Amino acid sequence: MTFQKAFSILSCLIIRTKGLSQHLPVAEDSTYDPSCAFCNVSVENGFDVRWEDSQLVAFRDRDPACEQHFQVIPKRHLSSVRQLGKSDVGLVKAMVNVGHQLLERLAIKRSMRKMGFHIPPFISVGHLHLHVQALPYKNFARKAKYPTARGFNSYQKGFTWFIEAHQTISIIQEGRRVGVLPC
Ligand SMILES: [Zn+2]
Ligand SMILES: [Zn+2]
Repeated sequence: MTFQKAFSILSCLIIRTKGLSQHLPVAEDSTYDPSCAFCNVSVENGFDVRWEDSQLVAFRDRDPACEQHFQVIPKRHLSSVRQLGKSDVGLVKAMVNVGHQLLERLAIKRSMRKMGFHIPPFISVGHLHLHVQALPYKNFARKAKYPTARGFNSYQKGFTWFIEAHQTISIIQEGRRVGVLPC
């Protein structure tokens, strides 16, 4: 165990004893990457945390594309949607469920809810994050960052760098991988 790892575990334990009001850092297992912004999500680090359970954390996006824009992330460090396989279907469904709960609290209609992932290399942070948004977007430039493309033939998704959560679930539960190309 490196000193840095030991220190991160130790500081995690110290913060843990302070209780939940002081939001726990995400760092809690072997996947923790000290240089990753989302492995270090905490109120102390300036995040507007809106949800936490044993597996997930959600916070308001720092540069919202819509009036209501959240990020739901797993505490475990997973680099991106490309990494997900069949065994991650439950994780994605749990992330979507948190997204719905956040938007439900704000009385956002189902038809105005949009959730999805950016696909590498088109990602800003290399830690899996589900964008949870209440449409409409602030402007066209914002909208262009979250394009969706319906699938065709046997594909669930067309050519695009953003994939909606329901498309992701369909693809990975068939044992296939997500990519920018139709998949
Ligand atoms: Zn991370
Ligand atoms: Zn993103």
